[in-house]
Amino acid sequence: MSASDTNCIFCKLVGGEIPATVVHRDDRVIAVVDVNPQAPVHLLVLPLEHHGTLGELIAAGRTDVALALLRTATALGDERGGPAGFRLVVNTGADGGQTVGHVHVHVLAGRPMHWPPG
Ligand code: AMP
Ligand code: ZN
Repeated sequence: MSASDTNCIFCKLVGGEIPATVVHRDDRVIAVVDVNPQAPVHLLVLPLEHHGTLGELIAAGRTDVALALLRTATALGDERGGPAGFRLVVNTGADGGQTVGHVHVHVLAGRPMHWPPG
């Protein structure tokens, strides 16, 4: 764990060094609109601190931050997805499809989601 990683694009996003459409920010997490949306609603919720994966976040003892990720993602899913629902996704590692090594929760809504995702 480290507070910030200078090579991490999401740390840069947290620090305001790259632009983003911010829909929520508090003392633990930030939520932004995904630049390559896969659904009418596609948000990312990420911790302000740099942690590579959800497992690393939990192993660092930051369970309050892990809960904040889930709480914010769920609130945004409820708010933006409405009664039709939403999907939360945490891609982890290469096989999980993780392309940015700063843990984040995808919030997807606004269309029916297919399962399995393929
Ligand atoms: P993952 O593949 O789970 O690591 O997801 C990374 C996500 O970050 C992808 O959906 C990208 O479209 C998104 N993304 C990458 N760069 C940015 C950025 N600067 N602002 C917002 N979303 C981004
Ligand atoms: Zn980072």
